[in-house]
Amino acid sequence: MSLKHCDIDTFHRTTMTDQRELDARFLREAYDQAKASYDEGGLPIGAAMAENGVVIASGHNRRVQDGDPIAHGEMDCFRRAGRRARYDGVTLYTTLSPCMMCSGTILQFGVRRVVVGEDKNFPGNIDFLRAHGVEVLLVNDAACIELMGRFIREHPELWDEDIAGTTEV
Ligand SMILES: [Zn+2]
Repeated sequence: MSLKHCDIDTFHRTTMTDQRELDARFLREAYDQAKASYDEGGLPIGAAMAENGVVIASGHNRRVQDGDPIAHGEMDCFRRAGRRARYDGVTLYTTLSPCMMCSGTILQFGVRRVVVGEDKNFPGNIDFLRAHGVEVLLVNDAACIELMGRFIREHPELWDEDIAGTTEV
C-alpha cells in the first residue's frame, strides 16, 4: 500500500472516530438535559443541537415545568437555538425517538442528521425520518433507556399525557 493510501485510510479512521466521540459527547449533553428535567419533576427527554463539532443549543421537555404541551425536548432545543437561516449542517441529538410533531419540525427546518438515544420506550418516527432523507443514528443508550423507563413507571399518567394516549406517534 502506498503512503498516500495509508494517509487516506488514517484520515477516514480518524474522522469516523472523531464523529463517534462527538456523537457520544453530545448525546450525553442531551441526557444531562433529560436528567435535569427529571430532577425538576418533568419528563426526562432532552435534546442538543451541534454544528461543526460544537453544541449551539440544548433543551428539554417543559410540559410540566411550563404547562406547555408542545415544549418537547427537541422543540425546546430548536427554540433555544434561536433564528437560523439553515439547518443543513446541524446534527440534532435527542434522548428519545422523536414524536411526529418533532419529526415534522426536523423536516420543516431541513435538519439532515439526527442521533437518537433510544427507541425502546417509544418507537417514534425513525423510519419516517429516514424515508425523507434524514440520516438517523439510533444508539439505544442504556442510560437513556433506564431514565425514561423509570419515569414511565413512576408517572404513567404524565407520560400518557405527553403522547396523548397514543403509543405509536
Ligand atoms: Zn416530540
